Amino acid sequence: MTSLLEEFQKVGKRLREEGLVDANFGNMSVREEDGFSITRTGSFLDSPGKLVFVPFDGEAPKQASNEHQAHREIYRITPHRAVVHAHPPHAVALSLHHERIIPADCEGEMFCPEIQVVTGAPGSIGMAQNVAKALVEHRVVIVRGHGTFAAGKTLEEAYIMTSLAEHSCQVLILSGKECHDTINSCQPGNQRE
Ligand SMILES: [Zn+2]
Repeated sequence: MTSLLEEFQKVGKRLREEGLVDANFGNMSVREEDGFSITRTGSFLDSPGKLVFVPFDGEAPKQASNEHQAHREIYRITPHRAVVHAHPPHAVALSLHHERIIPADCEGEMFCPEIQVVTGAPGSIGMAQNVAKALVEHRVVIVRGHGTFAAGKTLEEAYIMTSLAEHSCQVLILSGKECHDTINSCQPGNQRE
């Protein structure tokens, strides 16, 4: 049987190999009783080292990932059991000009037919709450200009959602279709920001 750490390593390696995280950014966690185990701040996801336990209530250890508040909020208000936060470049690029992304490729249409874009400063409680709310009904969300949070029953499931969302965003960019499917943000004079 695969140990928890091996599971983190396997998924971290895939995230790195696919370019879904850069250098030592991104983080992952798994729900436990009364809290969750998360990667350390600044750790490389393909060799995460020791995991840090963060309780649902009270102070988080200072070694825990900077984004532990988002993970905590997700576990508080959704039934998800694992969370992956990554920085996929095409998803981040599309998030700059859209409030939601509607995939046009067949896997995207099937597994993440609508991807919400939320806002908030990295590590802030505001961002944590926006992310968690979006993940009540969806399995992946993009924080504008920052990255994705994906959730599922296992880390592997959350990784697959991350990869699917990035693929859908890449296809939209390659096709030029993103200009027509969202909030008219590509029309002159109608920029949101
Ligand atoms: Zn991040």
